[in-house]
Amino acid sequence: MTLHPTKRAQIAFHVLYGPTNTPPDRPSPSNKSKGGPIASHLISMQIRDAYIPTAIDLTKTYSIIIHDIGMRIPVIRGSGDIGKTFLNMPKTFGNMFQLLPLAVLYPKSVSDIATTIRHIWKMGPNSELTALKMHVYTGNYPYVDASGGELWIDILRECLKYGLAPKSWTDYLHLTVGGTLSNAGVSGQAFRHGPQISNVHHMEVVTGKGEVLNCSEKQNSDLFHSVLGGLGQFGIITRARISLEPAPDMVRWIRVLYSDFTTFAADQEHLIGAETTFDYIEGFVIINRTGLLNNWRSSFNPQDPVQASQFHSDGRTLYCLELAKYFNRDTADALNEVSAWLLSSGFQMKSGNSLSQLRYITSTLFQTEVPYIEFLDRVHVSEVKLRAKGLWEVPHPWLNLLIPKSKINDFADEVFGNILTDTSNGPILIYPVNKSKWDNRTSAVIPEEDIFYLVAFLTSAVPSSTGTDGLEHILTQNKRILEFCEIARLGMKQYLPHYSTHEEWKAHFGPRWEVFSQRKSTYDPMAILAPGQRIFQKAISFS
Ligand SMILES: Cc1cc2nc3c(=O)[nH]c(=O)nc-3n(C[C@H](O)[C@H](O)[C@H](O)COP(=O)(O)OP(=O)(O)OC[C@H]3O[C@@H](n4cnc5c(N)ncnc54)[C@H](O)[C@@H]3O)c2cc1C
Repeated sequence: MTLHPTKRAQIAFHVLYGPTNTPPDRPSPSNKSKGGPIASHLISMQIRDAYIPTAIDLTKTYSIIIHDIGMRIPVIRGSGDIGKTFLNMPKTFGNMFQLLPLAVLYPKSVSDIATTIRHIWKMGPNSELTALKMHVYTGNYPYVDASGGELWIDILRECLKYGLAPKSWTDYLHLTVGGTLSNAGVSGQAFRHGPQISNVHHMEVVTGKGEVLNCSEKQNSDLFHSVLGGLGQFGIITRARISLEPAPDMVRWIRVLYSDFTTFAADQEHLIGAETTFDYIEGFVIINRTGLLNNWRSSFNPQDPVQASQFHSDGRTLYCLELAKYFNRDTADALNEVSAWLLSSGFQMKSGNSLSQLRYITSTLFQTEVPYIEFLDRVHVSEVKLRAKGLWEVPHPWLNLLIPKSKINDFADEVFGNILTDTSNGPILIYPVNKSKWDNRTSAVIPEEDIFYLVAFLTSAVPSSTGTDGLEHILTQNKRILEFCEIARLGMKQYLPHYSTHEEWKAHFGPRWEVFSQRKSTYDPMAILAPGQRIFQKAISFS
């Protein structure tokens, strides 16, 4: 697996060995005092498949001194320079907690990963697997084979060379295949194609016992479904075969505004159920804001900026429906075709035309056209701008909720009517998806109903602020939202959850807990994988 040397966290996995159970993204001062016998207090590792010149030598044990703990610890080491690695440790995007892992390995191949896991599982290495390169297969059912550490943006770039692209995305593409497949991978294409975990044919996984297994619907299917949405608990995804479709080259990108939530949601639900519909459907909430059409998460520049600037929200809470229709430039008269299609789909393209089935505020149709790659990589444009201002690496106390359709109006009434009355500190996404596109054999936890909404509060906190844009205020708001969901019994499930106790995790999984814990005991019985999620602790019983 020789990958580009500049890639950030790849095949990131955290292996716990010994009594320390501090997730890499959460501090636990108490752990620092737990010295313990050196041999049993070995390592909490993060492994990344960055390029390395030589392989791991597990026959040797090296010692390093961890200064902030003040103890000498034996580490299994990769051939990277561990000291340098510590200095370069990436922070998590949440940026609210940080703890350095005790060692970071740079595996060169699947075999290195398997060997490391086996060393922990059995203390005995042996593997002859070969390195993996990304490979695109064309034909009637095209797919790409990619490493678990590959970034989605690189997969997109490679596939576009063949006129192909994956079907389902996240809003941000500088994430790894293994990372998003361990959650779900949701964006505006999910209503149609399902999340990313519904678009994988096959995976290669290194289990917690160090076995390298191929899995798919037909082969080791239980492992296949366990790992998808499995929060890294059952194995390390070293390779995934991802379904592709012909890629368009252009996107008509549209935003329209609503002042009434019920109408907005009804239109969204109509669109995700329609036979002929858009390629991408999302939406977001605008609370008491003047900058209506742009936010940090998007680089939307309407073709008619004057019209856009003339619209005033007057402090109202508005709901923005965001849609995209893909098309190819080389199709004769492509633009007219798209316009005609939009008209027939309910858009009032010219004043006086009465064909609209959608009930947005008629003066608020904003649109633009962008290349497909620019559309998919839209959040990165904002990332670059925010990084330049030092505003990317601030705390991100994000809250992502899945709300059943039958309760979305109650949720909106309370949350957008009472709890969040002031300008939000980041986008609030809200859009429905069809449950039929999710596979309930995977580990992903979703609400019971046929349609449910993803509601994502993607807030950024201003460091050291004690005001409404400060971390404490945002966390209090998040807590109020969660409490409301609980009290009103909305049947909400958290997406990308952050629970800290075993009991909370059990409640999150609900009736699926038995299966989840059984799978853990099968594939990672020592609970050495992804301890940072705090779901299982080493040496607990799985009941
Ligand atoms: C800016 C930003 C935007 C985002 N937007 C979206 C979005 O639109 N939709 C969406 O669904 N999600 C979104 N996410 C969340 C994202 O899907 C998860 O945070 C995901 O885990 C990120 O992948 P990563 O490569 O950064 O993983 P990492 O942070 O490297 O890993 C996270 C966890 O995933 C697991 N994991 C990672 N790699 C592997 C592997 N190879 N095998 C097994 N387990 C593994 C481990 O448990 C690990 O602790 C976003 C995240 C960020 C930071």
